[in-house]
Amino acid sequence: MDCIFCKIIAGEVFSEKVFENENIFAFLDINPKAKIHVLVVPKKHIKSVKHLEQADKNLAGELFLVAQKIAKEKNLEGYKLVINVGREGGQLVDHLHLHLLSGDV
Ligand code: 5GP
Ligand code: ZN
Repeated sequence: MDCIFCKIIAGEVFSEKVFENENIFAFLDINPKAKIHVLVVPKKHIKSVKHLEQADKNLAGELFLVAQKIAKEKNLEGYKLVINVGREGGQLVDHLHLHLLSGDV
């Protein structure tokens, strides 16, 4: 599959890893839109929020908990969590991801 985020998760494409567990991978955005800009990504290739299923319920929750954990570790007072959905929603990479943004957002 020609998916840049799957390649990053597999270690085939370099990224600055911030967090990894069995289900989730997080790394710095290559083109940061804020002082802190981390992408939190499920390892499972799910195209977008539109493609989430009941079976992904725990995984979807875990995305938020991992974002919270990274924010805590980075001592972020406040932050913005963004998920773009579909081209018209600003989604350019078709692998579900949550943007964690803080500082000048
Ligand atoms: P989207 O617009 O799909 O919600 O966000 C995709 C994000 O992925 C963008 O902020 C973009 O900078 C980031 N991105 C795209 N390709 C790469 C890459 O190869 N490496 C990293 N670290 N980030 C990427
Ligand atoms: Zn993928």
